[in-house]
Amino acid sequence: MEHSKGRRLILFALPLQGHIVPMLELANLLHFKGFSITVVSTQFNKLNPSSYPHLTFDFIDEGLTESEASTNDLVHLISLLNEKCAQPFKECLVNLLSDVSKEPVACLITDLRFHFTQPLAKSFNLPRLLLRTGGASSLVVYIAFPHLHEKGYLPKQDSRLEEPVKGFPPLKVRDLPNIHTKDPEQYFQMVAGRLRDETEASQGLIINTFEDIEGKALIRIRDEFPVPIFGVGPFHKPFPTTTSSGPGSSVSLPQDQSCISWLNTQAPKSVIYAGFGSLAAISEEQFLELAWGLANSNQPFLWVVRPGFVQGAEWLEALPNGFLEALNGRGHIVKWAPQKAVLAHPAVGAFWTHCGWNSTLECICEGVPMICMPCSADQMMNARYISDVWKVGLQLDHGKERGGIVKTIRKLMVEKEGKEIRNNMSDLTKKADLCFKPGGSSYECLEGLVKHICSLDSIVLQTQIEAAVNPSNGLHV
Ligand code: UDP
Repeated sequence: MEHSKGRRLILFALPLQGHIVPMLELANLLHFKGFSITVVSTQFNKLNPSSYPHLTFDFIDEGLTESEASTNDLVHLISLLNEKCAQPFKECLVNLLSDVSKEPVACLITDLRFHFTQPLAKSFNLPRLLLRTGGASSLVVYIAFPHLHEKGYLPKQDSRLEEPVKGFPPLKVRDLPNIHTKDPEQYFQMVAGRLRDETEASQGLIINTFEDIEGKALIRIRDEFPVPIFGVGPFHKPFPTTTSSGPGSSVSLPQDQSCISWLNTQAPKSVIYAGFGSLAAISEEQFLELAWGLANSNQPFLWVVRPGFVQGAEWLEALPNGFLEALNGRGHIVKWAPQKAVLAHPAVGAFWTHCGWNSTLECICEGVPMICMPCSADQMMNARYISDVWKVGLQLDHGKERGGIVKTIRKLMVEKEGKEIRNNMSDLTKKADLCFKPGGSSYECLEGLVKHICSLDSIVLQTQIEAAVNPSNGLHV
C-alpha cells in the first residue's frame, strides 16, 4: 500500500452482483493508493465486511420489501432503489461528513445508475465521481440512444436485426442493448435520458476498461463530455487471484471450492467452464439443450447453475435421472464458483459465458477464449466485440440447440480456428498485463485519478468544517 493520502472516499455501489464486484475492486485499488475507504451498503444484497478488513462499511436500511426485492424487472428494481435509498443515504452521508474523528471526505463515488445521488451531492457541495461498471463501447451506444431511436434502429424490429448500425461498426441491430421490462420508457430514461446531464454535472467518470480494448470508445466519450474520463481497468488486474472471498464472492451464495479440487484432476486446457453470471435465466427447454450440448461435446466441463437460472425450477431437477453419473466424472455442476480462480486454473481451456462485462474482463486477464451466449443489456455488444473485434471467442452461430453447441465447442477446443483465437487471446492478455505497468494506460490513468481526487479536497473540507461547527447549516436531515 502507498503512503496515506489522509483522505476518505465514500463508495456507493448499485446492489447487484455485476455492479458490486467492480465497485469493491475499485475500493481495493484506491485503498492501495493510500485512501481510506467507506463503502455504503444497502440491506438488499447486503455486503459482508469480513472479507474486506481494510475497508470501513456503513449500512443503510432502504426498506425494500421481499416482493420488491424479488422482481425480475431490473429497470423497475433500479428505479425503486433510487427512490428508497434517497432518505437513508442522505442521513448516512450527513453522519459521514460530520464525523471529525475520521479523515476528511474527498469525494463520493457512486454507480452511474444511482441518479438520486447527484442533487444530493450537489446540495452538500460534495464532489461526486461516477463509476461505469460496464464497458466504454456500450456506454457510447447508450449515449447515442436518442439518435438510434431517431434513425429507427431502436426499439429493435425483427425485420432489421441483421442490418449494420451506421456509425457503429461492427454492430448489427441485433447487438444493440435491450432489457425485458414492463416499462421501456423508464429503461430509456435510466440508461440514456439523464446520462448526459448527470455526467456533465459530475467531477469525472471512472470506467472499468483499458485503452487497448476500448481506446476508440474512450476517445468518443472524452469528446462527448467535458469532464475527466478515467479508463483504469481491469480493476482487479493488479491483485493476485485468490480462491475464495473478496470481490466476486456472491452476495447470497457461498463459493463452492469443490470446483478447484475437481479442476486439479483434469488435463491442462481441457475443461469448458460454463457460467452465465448472476442474473441470466433460461427456459427448461434451453437448459436441456445446454446440458446435452456439454455432455455430447466429449470435453470435461464445470458448470455453474445458479438457483434461479432455470425458470420455474429450484435447481437441477430438469436434468434426466442419472445425467451426471453417466458422464463418469466428466462433468461437475455447482451453484456458485470462485470464478476468477476457476478462470486462472491451468485445466480451463474455454469459457462459455453470457458475456457480462466483468466476466469478459476476467477472461481477458486470464487468457481464456470464450463461447458467447449473450442474454440481455450490453451482453450482445460485448459478444460482438469478443468475436469480431478482438477475435478472442466464437458466437453460438449454429443456435442454442445441442448440435450447434457441440460444433462450436469443438471448433474452439480442437479445430484450427480455435488455435488462432487462442493466439489472439494470448496477445490481448499480454496487453492487459502491461496496462498496469509503469507507463501503461491504466497505470497512468490511475495516477491521474488519484491526483484529480486529491485536487477536490478543498471544497469538501469547507463543507465538513461547517457541518462539524454548526450542525444546522444545511447538512441536517
Ligand atoms: N461470478 C462468480 N461466480 C460465479 C458466477 C459469477 O464469482 O459462479 C462473478 C464473476 O466473476 C463476475 C460477476 O460475478 O465478477 C458477474 O458479473 P458479470 O458482469 O459477468 O455478469 P452479471 O452477473 O452482471 O450478469
